Amino acid sequence: MADTMKCIVKARPEPDGLEMQERSIPRPSHGKVLIKVQTAAICGTDLHIFNWDHWSRERVHVPRIIGHEFAGKVVETGPDVEHLKVGDYVTGEGHLTCGFCRNCRMGDGHVCENWRGIGYDVDGCFAEYIVHPELNTWLNDETLPPHVAAIQDPLGNAIHTVFAADCIGNDVAVFGLGPVGLLAVAVLKAIGAARIFAIDWDNHYRMDIAGRLGAHHVIAASEKNAVDYVMERTSGKGLDVVLEVSGSPEALQDGLRCLRMAGDLVLIGTSNKTVSLDITNDVVFRAINIHGITGRRLWHTWYKMKGLLASGNLEVEPIITHRLPFDDFHKGFELMQAARCGKVVLEL
Ligand SMILES: [Zn+2]
Ligand SMILES: [Zn+2]
Repeated sequence: MADTMKCIVKARPEPDGLEMQERSIPRPSHGKVLIKVQTAAICGTDLHIFNWDHWSRERVHVPRIIGHEFAGKVVETGPDVEHLKVGDYVTGEGHLTCGFCRNCRMGDGHVCENWRGIGYDVDGCFAEYIVHPELNTWLNDETLPPHVAAIQDPLGNAIHTVFAADCIGNDVAVFGLGPVGLLAVAVLKAIGAARIFAIDWDNHYRMDIAGRLGAHHVIAASEKNAVDYVMERTSGKGLDVVLEVSGSPEALQDGLRCLRMAGDLVLIGTSNKTVSLDITNDVVFRAINIHGITGRRLWHTWYKMKGLLASGNLEVEPIITHRLPFDDFHKGFELMQAARCGKVVLEL
């Protein structure tokens, strides 16, 4: 094995500021494994860091190897690694948990009080090698293609979101057709939602993918009033569940108005804007259930994902629109910036 590796580093605190660098390969310490990365996917979070927005400036200290979505092979195990072995085909859960806080101990590691994210709090996976804690590493089925294994982080977000409410046999809308929104459409299709309303503001490229995934209604909210459209097709009753994945305050308000009495509003989209809601009339008197979703449940979501991927019903290939060589990462970020893509996977 060589001594050094290529990695994508946020080198400068400014928009873009990314560089391909040569670094020494890290060694796995106590309880950690060294993974040779095969595939890595670009996330909206990486785009935030690329654009050096408010969140990134507060959270990320440069220089930092970015990236948190990946798959690869274990090539070395550190002291006291008990379960994984060299050659295992794995993916890392990108939220490092402490295992000790109240939430971890109660089985809610996704809301660990001390969690740190790879690719922003610590060095990430846009590298030929990454050291990762054994207890944060997931063993993949050997049959899972590496470009699919790389997107289990956002797929897990989508699964966590869909399973927060009762979507099976129910009418569900997805607001926002970025990669996580599209993955939510695929999951809804796989589990048998009654009617899927896929709604985006104006991104026809992504709306086409939603149609191919089997969404029953695909709507551009810039062209027609989504609330009127939904109400006409549900006899004025409204939807059972709305998944808000866009982060747009307007979409959140529209989503709330699309719901039936006692429906579920599941929020995973984030925004730096404040949203104003008529809590009394739109939430309390209508008995709406609001759920906030972060990360993937450890490890409930991962087992559910394993099962859904093995079922053959979950179709994610149309969402992985680009597979690029690692060196072409700038092209990947351009595609993400222009929103002319689904998931972009880098191959090492
Ligand atoms: Zn991600
Ligand atoms: Zn914890």
